[in-house]
Amino acid sequence: METLIGLRVDVDTFRGTKQGVPALCELFRKHSIKASFFFSVGPDNMGRHLWRLLKPAFLWKMLRTKAASLYGWDIILMGTMWPGPGIGKHLGQVIKACDAEGHETGFHAWDHQRWQSKIDKFSSDDIYKELKQGIDSLTAITGKAPVSSAAPGWKGNAKTLLEKEKFKFKYSSDTRGDSIFMPQLDGKTLETVQIPVTLPTYDEMLGRDGVTNENYNERMLALLRPGKLNILTIHAEAEGNLCLAMFDEFIQKATAKGFRFTTMGEVLEKTPKPYPVCGITLNENFPGREGWIACQAGL
Ligand SMILES: [Zn+2]
Repeated sequence: METLIGLRVDVDTFRGTKQGVPALCELFRKHSIKASFFFSVGPDNMGRHLWRLLKPAFLWKMLRTKAASLYGWDIILMGTMWPGPGIGKHLGQVIKACDAEGHETGFHAWDHQRWQSKIDKFSSDDIYKELKQGIDSLTAITGKAPVSSAAPGWKGNAKTLLEKEKFKFKYSSDTRGDSIFMPQLDGKTLETVQIPVTLPTYDEMLGRDGVTNENYNERMLALLRPGKLNILTIHAEAEGNLCLAMFDEFIQKATAKGFRFTTMGEVLEKTPKPYPVCGITLNENFPGREGWIACQAGL
């Protein structure tokens, strides 16, 4: 029996939207795949984010992942010397075309960099405004409200989850974990189901434990779990660019092993209820990542 892989495409930057999204749409067309895209629609200040993180651990990661070739120097510099360009404002047609092709459209961020770096300082009101601005913008682009949301960098805490409840998403994906679950905060179960990401990302894997571009696909294939929840996050900036051919090969090999790539919405539909109720922990030591990220508790 086939096992589904929920495919989550995070789109963080201007260039990722402009080049990576059409490239991935073409790849998905070739394989008759529908995926879940999560768009960033406000200013692209990721360059500022990358500079802010210039410290030894991050430099090492830059070298490991060849961030400059991955993102391009224009992206690294973007937002450092001039205000970042509005992604939705300039590239709304790309987002609209992706949605019109039948992919699932979710909300990732208004300002990805600001969410990732300042979320700890955000009040509930700040969070609501950031969400509202981005969701309104995405709704105007596609003509319908996004079905889901995914927090930038898995920065989801009690405040962000509570504010997201107001938008009545079909599901949210703010956590890393093992199974679809209903998040519980302070003894209260939320209404929006969480679909956690189960697999590591390219930038988390590469350069660690002997992982190279040559053995990356084999290592990832070994992590797929027949009969269980498999959710993979790819990035328009990586798999939609320099890693496109490698990802194409991964799709072929995983398909040959009996897996089928699809939207997270379909994975949710095919997963029988009731979903377990789980807390959320903020993990400071997640392999390959900086700072805390939200995880399904009890794993
Ligand atoms: Zn992101």
